[in-house]
Amino acid sequence: MSDVRILEETDRTTGRDALRKNIQAAVALAGAVRSTLGPKGLDKLLVDDEGRSMVTNDGITVLESAKVEHPIAHMLIAASATQDQTVRDGTTTTVLLASEWLQNAWHLVVQGVHPATIARGFRMAESYCKDHIESLTFEATKEHVYAAAMTSLAGKLHTKMQSTISECAVEAAEAITMTSNGNIVADPTRVKVITRCGPSLEQSKLITGLALPKKRAHVEMPSTLGAGSILLVDGGLELRSLSTDVQLNVTSTSALQSFRDAEQQRLLEQVNMLKKLDVTLLACREGIDDSTHAHLAEAGIKAFRRVAKSDLELLARGCGARLVPTIHQAKDADVGVFISSRCERWGDVDHWILETDEGGATFVASGSTETVVGEVERCFADALGVACRLKEDPKLIPGGGATYIALARRLRRYAETVPGREQLAIEAFADGLETIPRVLAENAGMDSIDTLLQIVSIQSTESDDTIGLNVLTRQPENMREANIVEPSRVLEQAISGASEATIAVLRIDDVLWAKQEISVPDDVQATLDGTAADRR
Ligand code: ADP
Ligand code: MG
Repeated sequence: MSDVRILEETDRTTGRDALRKNIQAAVALAGAVRSTLGPKGLDKLLVDDEGRSMVTNDGITVLESAKVEHPIAHMLIAASATQDQTVRDGTTTTVLLASEWLQNAWHLVVQGVHPATIARGFRMAESYCKDHIESLTFEATKEHVYAAAMTSLAGKLHTKMQSTISECAVEAAEAITMTSNGNIVADPTRVKVITRCGPSLEQSKLITGLALPKKRAHVEMPSTLGAGSILLVDGGLELRSLSTDVQLNVTSTSALQSFRDAEQQRLLEQVNMLKKLDVTLLACREGIDDSTHAHLAEAGIKAFRRVAKSDLELLARGCGARLVPTIHQAKDADVGVFISSRCERWGDVDHWILETDEGGATFVASGSTETVVGEVERCFADALGVACRLKEDPKLIPGGGATYIALARRLRRYAETVPGREQLAIEAFADGLETIPRVLAENAGMDSIDTLLQIVSIQSTESDDTIGLNVLTRQPENMREANIVEPSRVLEQAISGASEATIAVLRIDDVLWAKQEISVPDDVQATLDGTAADRR
């Protein structure tokens, strides 16, 4: 009896009922992004509670903007968000796979298979896939990297833009790739993205070096510099303010003046420090006092003030410099180097462009409206993610659902060798994988069953695992030749992320919801109680 008392303020759903409701939530969530999959996927118009709107084809953007309350839907969104963070692609795929596996699992539960047995079968299928993806991969050449970037943008923007963004992404990935401890590292966060609202979409471009929308502190400072040294300061070069920074007991009329003189002297000393360190370029997070401009210009030092901390960190990585709190604390080892520094005016905004040894690149995302610029930015991030991933791990798989079908065919053969009820779960897992080519066909307005059967039959009669659906020609084709290829990591992560989420849902047999108290504002309560009139 005491158990019941504990759960008094709680709604409870148990057993099959809990599983059914959880699966319904997952299917409903997948339904929201199903129609965006693939090049023929349609866009979604998202409107937030402040009335701002966004048009996108990106699964995770749709999911993260939706106000979702069901905890199971949150679990799937989290799996999709992890997919986005780790491999930057395959977010819609992850949600579709998880929801399809859950539906197939439900059919087995109805037939009397225990969810724990299904979970075990799914784990066996997942690890079989992990072991066999390798045999379906091939080595990426530079052309393939470009093709994979194009594939990741399929259905987004228009074809010309896809190729411009893909070229920029491949070039940017080249620029930031470095070797660290014998490993190749391509960190996409080293590419700076700046946005320009106004110029047309086609004016989006890649610039070698780091570009920041910044104006040099004074016109007399040199606009262009050849190779030199740079100091990055996480503070400023300013006079201390009497109202905030210091407290002064003024005993004579000259005391204030001597304080000011001393402050000026302090700034001058810092300029001399810069000269001693042989610095030709200075970037500060805070301000630079007007009185020092002339001294800096005289010393041939070009300075930038109010540079964001994130930009200073990017500059530090590019120049091999270390951020210092004040100029006084700077040592030779903190100073970095650059190849050239120049200022350019684009439209009516001044930009500072710095080229360094460590490469570095900036993508300028342009578009007529903020909505367009936002989509260009997201597309570039996707293509860059793919290009960087392939720099580190140059393994590709055929796209267009080919690899999903090839894995499903292998899994079915494997299932035959498993004697227990897990066999049914492995078959259900294989069916779930085929959801990707089915939805690709469906979104292209083709018959999903006929298309799937046709591809399966060609793959098995010709023993060719690269046959998939090209939705542009609406024909089964060799995906390698059609240049529809994807990083194998995207598939690996989608399978492992989606199966983790599926198994987690299958293991839940009890859902306890705390009853939410409805709070009524005081004045409304007063009206309800009939006491409002008394107060008046
Ligand atoms: P996700 O969010 O999962 O990345 P996308 O909408 O980007 O979803 O679609 C990716 C899928 O589209 C991949 O499976 C990819 O192989 C497929 N795809 C891309 N281009 C083509 C094409 N021309 N024909 C068929 N499938 C394609
Ligand atoms: Mg994609």
